[in-house]
Amino acid sequence: MALSGLDIYKLLPKTNCKKCGFQTCLAFAMQLAKKAIPLDKCPFVTPEVRAVLEQASQPAIRLVEIGSGEAKSSIGNETVLFRHEEKFHHPTAIGFILEDVLSESELNKAIEEINKCTFERVGQKIEVNLVALKETKSKDSKFINALKILLKKTTLGLVLMPKTTETLKTALEICASQKPLVYCSENSLLDSFATIAGNFRVPLAFRGSSVSELSSLTKKIVSRVPDIVLDVHSEKMSDYLWQLTQLRRLSIKKNERSVGFPTMVIADLTDEAASVVEASMFIAKYASIVLLKTRKPEYVLPLLTLRQNIFTDPQKPLQVEPAVYTIGAADDRSPVLITTNFSLTYYTVLGEIETSRIPSHLICVDTEGMSVLTAWAAEKFNAEKVADTLIKFKLEEKVRHKNLIIPGYVSMMSGDLEEKSGWKILVGPREAAGLPSYLKNL
Ligand code: SF4
Repeated sequence: MALSGLDIYKLLPKTNCKKCGFQTCLAFAMQLAKKAIPLDKCPFVTPEVRAVLEQASQPAIRLVEIGSGEAKSSIGNETVLFRHEEKFHHPTAIGFILEDVLSESELNKAIEEINKCTFERVGQKIEVNLVALKETKSKDSKFINALKILLKKTTLGLVLMPKTTETLKTALEICASQKPLVYCSENSLLDSFATIAGNFRVPLAFRGSSVSELSSLTKKIVSRVPDIVLDVHSEKMSDYLWQLTQLRRLSIKKNERSVGFPTMVIADLTDEAASVVEASMFIAKYASIVLLKTRKPEYVLPLLTLRQNIFTDPQKPLQVEPAVYTIGAADDRSPVLITTNFSLTYYTVLGEIETSRIPSHLICVDTEGMSVLTAWAAEKFNAEKVADTLIKFKLEEKVRHKNLIIPGYVSMMSGDLEEKSGWKILVGPREAAGLPSYLKNL
């Protein structure tokens, strides 16, 4: 757990000798707590204190990386229990389990389906991250052949789920450079899997059915394989959530190193819809990886949308660049609409204008990412701001008319806005969904 400036001050010599460039040890400690300066600036820190401070500067939950290049997924290194306290840093990696018994054509088809699970939402690309390959039987295994097909067809991060140490070694000789996550399904194999994963410098995941079991197994292997992922398993949903919450709480609040690792859950209920509901709960609390069997886009998109919402910085709403956007072949006689630069609002309005097929100009006002009513209440979307925006974006040079359509929710500013801007204000529908019929009847 990070130390406060005062905690650090207590460990310093307190001589205020100024050799570090600060007037007092306290001033130095405060800067150190903010990680604004290195510890080396003070030449009088003893090795014991250095060890304490270095230990405290380690993340409570280890950062683990899976995959390489653009497809690399970083998980862990979370710092808070609740999103509003700061933000969640590393989005849950979502992946799919494929079994090695699939034929080459079935594997190719599955990879094609997985590659299609890429969408665009509020201007951001949202996509899946991992493909897990599971060995189904140790005799006459098809694992290595299936792995070779996957390596040709996808750049997504890999999770290897072999049944034997021999298969694991052969697989890692082929693909260790791509930093796959090794998954150990049998705890009797954990010792040998840890040695092999450590030798190949790849992360290792293993299953435990309780927090204490995960903690004691971690202590046995962490010196060999430092990058660990904890697979939480339980029979009941409530137990899953309890364990995931305990792991997060113990690592962040109690600085319990033996469980300070990212977590994973396999959501593989036979009922696909139920497994997606399960997965959504795991994304919310607090799985770093969720592996699914279903890969239907209609199930994957809601999970990616949920993840996008949860892992957005709550203090920095998604925003688009304030500007005048031309929709379709808009010219100087096309309607002019105005909205805020909150991404969700902007893309919703944009989508409805596109549906109307009426070429238009859409002015996006800088409201610091607030939606229409919030921005109006915060005086970021009032008559003065809108009038200034019309001048700033030189609307009079873009269109021949002076008619501006404002959202119905801020109709109360229409009189004031007409006075301040000299434009005729038309009050549009309250909801963006009303725009297609509104524009067609304009
Ligand atoms: S060099 Fe060390 S002892 Fe001297 S003022 Fe800075 S922190 Fe204090």
